Amino acid sequence: MKRLFRTRKVNLATLLTGLVCASVILTIMIMIISSYQSEKKSLTQTYLALNYSKSSKISDSVDSLFKSMRLSLEDTAEFLSKKNTLSDQEIQEQLELLRNNSRYFNSLSWIDETGLVRNIAPLSIGLKGQTITTGKTKIVLDAKEPVLTAPYTGPSGRLLVLMSQPLYDQDGNYKGMIGGSIYLQEENVLNEILGNDATEENGSYYYVVGPDGTLLFHPDQDRLGEEIKGNPVIRKLMNGQSGQEQVTNTQNTPMLAAYNVIPETGWGVVQQTPVSFMEDLLIDHIQKLAARVLPPFILLLLLCIFIARKLAAPFIRLADVMNQLALGKSVPIPSNQSHWNREADLLTKSVVIAIKAVKENNHQLTHAAMTDPLTGIPNRRKLNETMEEWAGQNRLFSLVEIDIDHFKRINDTYGHQMGDEMLKTLVQVIQSVIREKDLCFRYGGEEFIVLFPDTAASEAYSIAEKVRMAVENKMKIEGKSVTISLGISQFPLQSASLEGLFKLADDALYRSKSEGRNRTTISGLSK
Ligand code: GH3
Ligand code: MG
Ligand code: MG
Repeated sequence: MKRLFRTRKVNLATLLTGLVCASVILTIMIMIISSYQSEKKSLTQTYLALNYSKSSKISDSVDSLFKSMRLSLEDTAEFLSKKNTLSDQEIQEQLELLRNNSRYFNSLSWIDETGLVRNIAPLSIGLKGQTITTGKTKIVLDAKEPVLTAPYTGPSGRLLVLMSQPLYDQDGNYKGMIGGSIYLQEENVLNEILGNDATEENGSYYYVVGPDGTLLFHPDQDRLGEEIKGNPVIRKLMNGQSGQEQVTNTQNTPMLAAYNVIPETGWGVVQQTPVSFMEDLLIDHIQKLAARVLPPFILLLLLCIFIARKLAAPFIRLADVMNQLALGKSVPIPSNQSHWNREADLLTKSVVIAIKAVKENNHQLTHAAMTDPLTGIPNRRKLNETMEEWAGQNRLFSLVEIDIDHFKRINDTYGHQMGDEMLKTLVQVIQSVIREKDLCFRYGGEEFIVLFPDTAASEAYSIAEKVRMAVENKMKIEGKSVTISLGISQFPLQSASLEGLFKLADDALYRSKSEGRNRTTISGLSK
């Protein structure tokens, strides 16, 4: 479980970018959803209001048309009833005049109280002189009052409405009626107002229903005469209500519908726009919104990635430095320049201090590990390091091994502390004689090694002899000289291996000892 958490690490840049992404996406989503909803609401209201204004305009036009029709029919009836003396010819002319001038009616007739068609315009209908005894016209005639029929299909199969105006003579006797028929699908003023086969570009259209819900006008001509049932808007119209609402039409298409009753006729006008059109507008609106919002969002995101990377960079660099340090590699101290991010700045400064301390500590430890505490000169470890370095460069050098003669005796006679003092003095004497470039090491116990760089054994010999004589002259205990024995070997002439080189110097030293001590021997040279 613990491992699992450890392996799933998120980097700072990803985290920040992710956070910004999430918050911006969320904001945009909220913005788009709320904008979508408010836009939808406002579009719905707008289209409903627009449709309502259109349908009420249509309703008003049709209503006033029928009022005008009624007026003209009344005028004609009054004219005819006053002028009893008019000849058939004159009456015919009167009817023709009304029909042609107003274009309200497709046909006009005077049918007397017996059902006899006295006059009819146009004459071409051919009913003149015939007597009507049945049918809708007869019912209207017998009503003896102004009538506007519901649309019905006439004997010729055409959909029509009949408007009648009763005729009475001066004595109040019923003299029949003036009847005007309006064919719904034929040329007349009504058809000019309502006849339509066009659907607007946005899919809006209107239709007109009769009092019983029959389709009177509709862009789809095939549907004329169809009785619409189940449409809530039609039900409301039949109840005499006007209004606006979203409905699903008979084709199952959701519509924004506005409906108005035409009071004169009892018909209803429905003007509607498909909801899908509004959805197209909404999609367009959302696309435009997204196009406006997206560029700044992408810019923000890029900026965030940039800042996050800048923010993370010092941490990554510091982590890298610390890793190198942990691996024991030598690392440069990070530049101590201040960082604009407070945390990064603090951390950089702390790391710089820590690395400096570690380096200092390391330096001290290394120095201590390579230094002989008694004499303060480099020890055997440093010796090995130096020789390896020189050997690596194949550098010529001589190695002089120095050993105090009968040191044990000095220790035994004067004490170990005195022995230690001797060791320190010896180092001082050696240092005072050898050249600046020569290096003196404590090899162990009372043995010392001096390395003479770029120096052949013969040259080293003369310096070694100076050292030996200086010791003999300067180091005395109770008037007695302390002496040293020396052995010399040369790299790489005498031995190309460091081990061999030591062995040769050791052998030479051994010879110095065995030949009486207080002398210097070069390896390989017999006396
Ligand atoms: P030789 O002439 O053959 O070299 O005789 P020697 O007495 O010097 O013999 P050897 O080299 O075997 O003895 C070394 C002695 O040096 C042994 C030890 O007591 C002494 N010694 C080694 N290291 C130290 C030290 O750090 N301080 C002191 N005071 N004595 C040391
Ligand atoms: Mg010894
Ligand atoms: Mg000795």
